[in-house]
Amino acid sequence: MKKLNPKCITANRDLAYTTTGHLTPCCWVNNNYEKYLKDIHSPEMHIDNFNSIEDILLSKPWRVFFDMLMNNPSDAPEVCYKYCGNNKSWKKIEGVRHRISNND
Ligand code: SF4
Repeated sequence: MKKLNPKCITANRDLAYTTTGHLTPCCWVNNNYEKYLKDIHSPEMHIDNFNSIEDILLSKPWRVFFDMLMNNPSDAPEVCYKYCGNNKSWKKIEGVRHRISNND
């Protein structure tokens, strides 16, 4: 059975901002329009429609997304399993980040 370790919840995975003007739970899901993420990227969710980041994080698409990650992770988009599935270790990903930031 596939397992998910959502690093946006269990680690300090940062929020991301897209070129389309949307906030996303992390950069791995930028410009991804799979289920749940489609709603996070909808025209209504453009940052111009909000007064604060907190308002975005408390919006329905975000609450539904995180509720799914916590209570029904088997329904998570494939991109989440790609980066946060049980076959991906955080150490491996951190290693890539380290190499990129050290340019080696
Ligand atoms: S890929 Fe999905 S589960 Fe993983 S950190 Fe990003 S939004 Fe969260």
